[in-house]
Amino acid sequence: MSRIIAIANQKGGVAKTTTCVNLGAALAEMNRRVLVVDMDPQGHATMAAGIDKDADAPNGCAVLLEESPIQDAIVRTETGLDVLPGNSDLTAAEIKLMDGLAREHRLGNALKSVQDRYDYILIDCPPSLSLLTINALTAADSVLIPMQCEFFALDGLTKLMKTIEAIKAHTNPRLEIEGLLRTMYDGRNNLGQDVSAQLAAHFGDKVYHTIIPRNVRLAEAPSHGLPITAYDRDSRGAIAYLGLAGEVLKRERDSHAEAAPAAAAH
Ligand code: ADP
Ligand code: MG
Repeated sequence: MSRIIAIANQKGGVAKTTTCVNLGAALAEMNRRVLVVDMDPQGHATMAAGIDKDADAPNGCAVLLEESPIQDAIVRTETGLDVLPGNSDLTAAEIKLMDGLAREHRLGNALKSVQDRYDYILIDCPPSLSLLTINALTAADSVLIPMQCEFFALDGLTKLMKTIEAIKAHTNPRLEIEGLLRTMYDGRNNLGQDVSAQLAAHFGDKVYHTIIPRNVRLAEAPSHGLPITAYDRDSRGAIAYLGLAGEVLKRERDSHAEAAPAAAAH
């Protein structure tokens, strides 16, 4: 069974893209088949995966506009990740889609034709509530929310929760919260601990135990077009994202065991 996870937060610079590529690579290393979908016109996930975002090939734009089958746009990378690339064409796609039919469902419909080839499909969202984000949240089973533990983080989170409720009401009733991930964490900072405590109070065990520390190797890796596990396997960043992948897999196993207790007992 494949799972589609949108990595979203309206706030920019909270490590959505870093999480999408590095969690994807860590899951691939654990023998899961992973597709990363770049829905951000900045194309940062595409570049971080080592792909030329301006290559003369169909990308997410052509897929949303139904000009190309998704199979023809997916690129396989050397590190075992498959990527549906994105670039500034996505902004054009968004404008053209404005009066298109089933405009919120284009990505979800396209993913249906490749979904059974993957265990995890991770969608990197832009930092806004655009039609691109709406397509991602409409296609997804769940949302993974990266956040920095700073004063305004909880305010941004309230907005995101409203967005998720609206998507559930209108285009995707099955959308769940996958988890909240604390990123770029600096343990020396008391504020981080306060915000962490508030998060735990609001979201309980949806907050991942894994915390991604601030680690310069994570910031360097994209300029080499490599996920952190390929760039510096022993860095604190690599270890943290491998830990997160383990936690994602464990949650999934636990949820299956809960859903089918009789089967699990056999
Ligand atoms: P978003 O996609 O939410 O805008 P990014 O993943 O692009 O955020 O991260 C913003 C910036 O912070 C990037 O330059 C990235 O390399 C850097 N970064 C992300 N996570 C970390 C981390 N844990 N430690 C240090 N730098 C990080
Ligand atoms: Mg990004």
